[in-house]
Amino acid sequence: MSQENLSAPELPVLIAGAGPTGLTLACELARRGVEFRLVEASPGPRPGSRGKGLQPRSLEVFDNLGVIDRILANGRSAMPIRLIDPDGRTSGGPTYEERPDVPYPATVITPQWRVEETLRRHLDELGGTVEFGTALESFEQSADAVTAVLRSGDQTETVGAQWLVSCEGGRSVVRKQAGIAFEGETDERIRMIVADLAVDGIDRDAWHMWRCEEGFVSLCPLPSTELFQYQAPILGETDLDLATLQTILDRRSGRSDVRLRSPEWTSVWRSNTRLAARYRNGRVFLAGDAAHVHSPAGGQGMNTGIQDAHNLGWKLAAASPALLDTYESERRPIAAGVLQLSTARMAEAAKQRSIPIRSDRATTQLSVNYRGSVLARDDRADSAQLRAGDRAPDAPGLTTATGERRLFDLTRGGQFTLLNFGPRFDSTVRTFHVVAHPSAADEIADSAGHLARAYSPTERTLVLLRPDGYIGLISDAGDFAAVTEYLL
Ligand SMILES: Cc1cc2nc3c(=O)[nH]c(=O)nc-3n(C[C@H](O)[C@H](O)[C@H](O)COP(=O)(O)OP(=O)(O)OC[C@H]3O[C@@H](n4cnc5c(N)ncnc54)[C@H](O)[C@@H]3O)c2cc1C
Repeated sequence: MSQENLSAPELPVLIAGAGPTGLTLACELARRGVEFRLVEASPGPRPGSRGKGLQPRSLEVFDNLGVIDRILANGRSAMPIRLIDPDGRTSGGPTYEERPDVPYPATVITPQWRVEETLRRHLDELGGTVEFGTALESFEQSADAVTAVLRSGDQTETVGAQWLVSCEGGRSVVRKQAGIAFEGETDERIRMIVADLAVDGIDRDAWHMWRCEEGFVSLCPLPSTELFQYQAPILGETDLDLATLQTILDRRSGRSDVRLRSPEWTSVWRSNTRLAARYRNGRVFLAGDAAHVHSPAGGQGMNTGIQDAHNLGWKLAAASPALLDTYESERRPIAAGVLQLSTARMAEAAKQRSIPIRSDRATTQLSVNYRGSVLARDDRADSAQLRAGDRAPDAPGLTTATGERRLFDLTRGGQFTLLNFGPRFDSTVRTFHVVAHPSAADEIADSAGHLARAYSPTERTLVLLRPDGYIGLISDAGDFAAVTEYLL
């Protein structure tokens, strides 16, 4: 039986899909007091470790969102990697660099379902909810509104919304109905088994990876569970039962004492590298895997979706058409770069017969920047290292009225922040204003000098940080009018 419930398009945002992307977007909107509905086709939370690597930039997003403690409690930072060759030779990685401007320098391993669980819990605290068992079936749009048909079992509901965001993953119904091409290729020959299971006979202190002539097999402990994530390229195997997984492990590791049992989740990854031709069609946006899919090599997919949502959230809250245009122009080139990176790392994997474990500025996503965006404005010399559009560096050791803080402690919450480096307010300590709201200025002292080293200010520099932690404007000339104009 079908029942129609027509409602007026008063709902500001409808989000389809409650994976990491949809949940991050929902939290972003909820903390800004924007009304939304978040519908999810599956009947309940999805199992599966899937994207188990959170990159340093995503950790900063989660810090800003206020969920970092729970993420870290369920994860392991800088998991040692043990790469074992047939002759027993063992090498390791990854390496990372401790820097004052980077609070979370290493990748955190945690099952993707834990990330989703944490975001759902936070959403609940913010007053939001996931409508499980509700799929977006179709939509139409006019100049003023989107009208979507939602299905829960045999019930349908027609919903009006000002904006629709597809966070539906690679098979996005919205992308297809919007007629947005998903350009790229699928190579059915490249497939990988992924499973969450219990393992006897190896320690949980490292991610174990064995390589041999045939290929590789990997077992990564999943923090906050008793399980490991099993990964192995499929080389002709058809049955993916436990016995087959065990045979692959025995053959590729050369060991017989490592025993697999109790598989809780199994999936097959197929090589699919595609990028949506557009991220926006009128009142409809694509984010996360709905907009870009690629190999897991380099651990980028979930992270890129989280950052799509972080970029889009504050712009949707502002609901300014010009601002919303910058979502595609800023994020699509980033995804194009991620596709290149993961394809290159996949080729490396094939050559090295292992998962590429190199962690660098590209994989951490700390070097993602929006230089050249219409939202990036500065009057700095071309030779300056830090420019508008760059990720705003963190700085520890700031003396504030409430004790010692990092810059990221002061910018948490996702508002615009103005760093006013001059003029001096007293003769002994260099002071500046952090202004979250123009009426509430805090004086803080850069006691350890980290802020000055990160931002290289003149005595007049103004730096305006965007709500998503990128530098919107730098004026070394101290041009307040430029700041006011930016915020208009
Ligand atoms: C083996 C493997 C390893 C990976 N490793 C990493 C890694 O280390 N790091 C990393 O960053 N990424 C990794 N990824 C990729 C990562 O899992 C994905 O990029 C991530 O899940 C994308 O999140 P998303 O929210 O955009 O989409 P999804 O997680 O696919 O979520 C989409 C959601 O939308 C729902 N949905 C679909 N259609 C509808 C509809 N019409 N209406 C309502 N709901 C709908 C689905 O049920 C689903 O819950 C890996 C993936 C795999 C398979």
